[in-house]
Amino acid sequence: LRAEAEAAKDLAAETKDGHLVRAAANMAALEELTAVADSGAEEIGLMRTEFLFMDRDAAPDEDEQTEIYKRIIAGLKGKPLTVRTMDIGGDKPVAYMDRPAEENPNLGWRGLRYSLDETALFDTQLAAILRASAEGPVRIMFPMVSTLEELRAAKDRLEAVRDRLGKAGQPFDDKLEIGIMIEVPAAAEMADRLAPEVDFFSIGTNDLTQYMMAADRANPKVQKLSDPLQPAVLRMVARTIAAAHEAGIWIGMCGAMAGNRLAAPILLGLGLDEFSMKPVDIGTFKLTVRRLAKPACEDLAAEVLKLDGAEAVRKRVAAFLDDIE
Ligand code: PEP
Ligand code: MG
Repeated sequence: LRAEAEAAKDLAAETKDGHLVRAAANMAALEELTAVADSGAEEIGLMRTEFLFMDRDAAPDEDEQTEIYKRIIAGLKGKPLTVRTMDIGGDKPVAYMDRPAEENPNLGWRGLRYSLDETALFDTQLAAILRASAEGPVRIMFPMVSTLEELRAAKDRLEAVRDRLGKAGQPFDDKLEIGIMIEVPAAAEMADRLAPEVDFFSIGTNDLTQYMMAADRANPKVQKLSDPLQPAVLRMVARTIAAAHEAGIWIGMCGAMAGNRLAAPILLGLGLDEFSMKPVDIGTFKLTVRRLAKPACEDLAAEVLKLDGAEAVRKRVAAFLDDIE
């Protein structure tokens, strides 16, 4: 399988019956750039920007951040880069930021909640992303959105930074796409209201699963529950994809589920447009997609949404994949 996957990585992620999806890579450090560029990924579906702030004594200023984003854009040679604004807090603490200790960091002051309060830090990052967007295709994505108000506040800040750059004569792409992660159940539930206000969604199944199942993503004792193949999670994913398409926007996924071979036929059947995963998984993903047919995946998806639990889903999909091999 490994040699076949290697050979498939530069082919299209297209089903036997011609349904095309986008294979994208996740990235969380500058050192991953070569691996990402060689992975066969057509774009970066998630760049976690926390690495810019970690392992140092102070936050990078606007110029330094701009230079880093520009280096990544140059390395990608025209492939779109989705920059997620900082998701500080939760499981991603940063020592110098002098944040109060929290009893429940995953339910606390993290992601966009933090950015909207620490506006100087947020504006600096938005300005750097915008400035870098003059050099190649860039999208901005906000993490941990829970309400419409948060999204609107983030867009207002972006608009204000755009104004400032415009007045200063700084070039940037004024048509860059703006999207949000769907990783809080409240956002998934409100997907029909959020969708008309953005260009795209990306489902963060790591957190979405954790919050839906009330099971810590990092606690091995509750691993069985913190499983995106739980039908409860699959149903919410299905509704979110439908809400996005209803509003006419595209939808991706950048949680670990997107690179899970057992999830691929279900997500294809549900109509997911973009799959963003670890660079090493791209070849296997494309190989799997190229052996599938969309109508059979749609039937499978409808079937597994009605199963009793994750084990039953796993068994059913494994049998389905065995049949096509
Ligand atoms: C997610 O929650 O699924 C996600 C992609 O974000 P992170 O893993 O960085 O929290
Ligand atoms: Mg997350």
